[in-house]
Parts: sequence; C-alpha cells; structure tokens
Amino acid sequence: MTQYEPAKMGEECPVIIEARNVSFTYEGEDESRALPAVNGVSLAVREGEYVCLLGRNGSGKSTLAKLFNLIFTPDSGEILINGKSVSEDMTDDELFEIRRTVGMVFQNPDNQLVATVVEEDVAFGPENLGIPSAEIRSRVDEALSLVGMSEYAKTAPHMLSGGQKQRIAIAGVLAMMPRCIIFDEATAMLDPGGRHDVMEILHRLNKERGITVLNITHHMDEAISADRIYVMNEGRVMLSGTPKEVFRDIEALRTAALEAPAGTELLYELNRLGGDFSLPCLDFAECAEIIANKYKEKN
Ligand code: ADP
Ligand code: MG
Repeated sequence: MTQYEPAKMGEECPVIIEARNVSFTYEGEDESRALPAVNGVSLAVREGEYVCLLGRNGSGKSTLAKLFNLIFTPDSGEILINGKSVSEDMTDDELFEIRRTVGMVFQNPDNQLVATVVEEDVAFGPENLGIPSAEIRSRVDEALSLVGMSEYAKTAPHMLSGGQKQRIAIAGVLAMMPRCIIFDEATAMLDPGGRHDVMEILHRLNKERGITVLNITHHMDEAISADRIYVMNEGRVMLSGTPKEVFRDIEALRTAALEAPAGTELLYELNRLGGDFSLPCLDFAECAEIIANKYKEKN
C-alpha cells in the first residue's frame, strides 16, 4: 500500500472533509415538532489529522457521519470532500471517488461483515472497486496484518469475538485504501480490552500510514489523544479545539453531559474548595505534577 505516505500536519495540509453550516432534519410524522438532528454545523478535518467528534447519545454525531458519507444530503449548508462540494446530482464516478476517499466503520461489526471467510470479507470492498485480483490479494494480506489478524484469514467471521470482528471490518475498509476513515462508535460494542486494541490500531494507522481519522465517540477518554476535538450537543458544535483547550471548559462539558479527564475533574473540585490549580490535565501523572508543584511552592 505505497499510496499511504505519512502526511505532514498543519495549516498547509488540504482539508479533506468539511461541513459548512450544515443542517439536517429527519422527516417525522409531525413536521412541526421535528428538531434538526444537525443544526448549523461547521467543521473541517485536514489531511493527516486525528480528529475526535465527541458527544452524548442523540447529539447528532451519526447523522453528521452519514452526511459525510452521502447516505443523507443536507437540508441546507454544504458538505465538501477533498474541497469539492457534494450534491445530489453528482455522477456515479464522482460518488465512487468520494467513497474511495472516505471509508466508514460503524458500531456493529455484524452488520458490516458480508462473507463467510475473513479474507473474502476483506476482499469485498476492493473487488467492488474493480481492483485486479493480484493486487486484491496483496491488499487483503496487508490490511489483515495492519489489524493483527493475519492468522485468521481463513476463519469464519462468526467464530470471532466482537473486537476481532471489528478489526476485520476495519481491514475491509483499509483494503479500499481510503485517505480518510470515519469511525462511528467503532468501539461501542467492545469490552475494554477490545476497545483499547482498536483505538491503538486507529492511532497507528494515523501516525504510521498518514490516514486521516475522524473518530466519533461518546467516550471522553478516546478524545484525550486526538489532535483536535469537536464537541457536539443537541445537533450543534458547542466546543472545539485541542484536548487541552476543550477539557479546560468543565462547565461547557457538563452542559453537554460529558466529563473531563478524571484528574481535571479533581482539580476543578479542588478549585471550588479554594484551590488555584490550572486546568486541565490529561492524565494522572500530569495531575500529580500540578498538585506536587503547588505543594512545593507553598512549602
Ligand atoms: P448520535 O449519533 O450522537 O447518538 P444521532 O445522529 O443518531 O446522534 O441522532 C441525532 C438525533 O436524531 C436524535 O434526536 C435521534 O433521535 C434522531 N434520529 C436519529 N436517527 C433518526 C431516524 N432514522 N429517524 C428520526 N430521527 C432520528
Ligand atoms: Mg451515533
């Protein structure tokens, strides 16, 4: 998969996914009561970035993901993939190009696995793209190796654990060699071990392969190691920035029914009792350091 060159990050990198003031309302039985699931959202993900879209259940994350993947089209506003505006009257070739650029992994791996043998499943996507069979073979082998599942190539997917199935689903998307992958609650059905493994794979794909990642999750801890975070609440982006910028604003997070990392919550509560610790800290080591430094200053 030589096409994956680790991308340089920063302002000079092209924007790969963008929403400009996008709104979408599901058509309900009573239109007058329908609230927009996505309400005036603007965001941009640059090539090579690892971005997290964080929000509680029902905040509009999956709807936005489906807008990015052209499953829905916006009622108003604009979605751009690779700088090109996406519209309903795109040609099949244009649609095809977008689906090749942005891959998607969903919550339930059972809904994403289609074949009776793992390697056939992983080959399914590239076959649909019309890739020659020799190249499919090498893509399948490499994709399985990237997710640590090479030894299961001949296994039936139903024999695998949830975490293993999710890794196969990721391999299936990788085999299509997208430049960007959107993971929509891809760890939601996994136990903590499986979740940890899958998160590690996402970070490796980003760091070593330069694949742009948009990880959608309600788990705050998955956002700590992102380059940037967008926090959604009631269909809107209510906070955005680096993890340090976002997790500083405990009150806004609470409005969105989210928490900051445990160490930051602790410092916040200590401040309410009269402390003056600077927020946030992203892990306990950093939290301990902040408290220890203050203690040393005072003694
Ligand atoms: P999230 O992924 O953050 O949990 P969703 O995008 O799934 O949020 O949902 C956003 C809002 O849209 C919620 O109020 C949800 O009830 C509503 N919604 C989601 N899917 C549908 C649907 N197919 N039909 C009607 N309303 C929906
Ligand atoms: Mg969702």
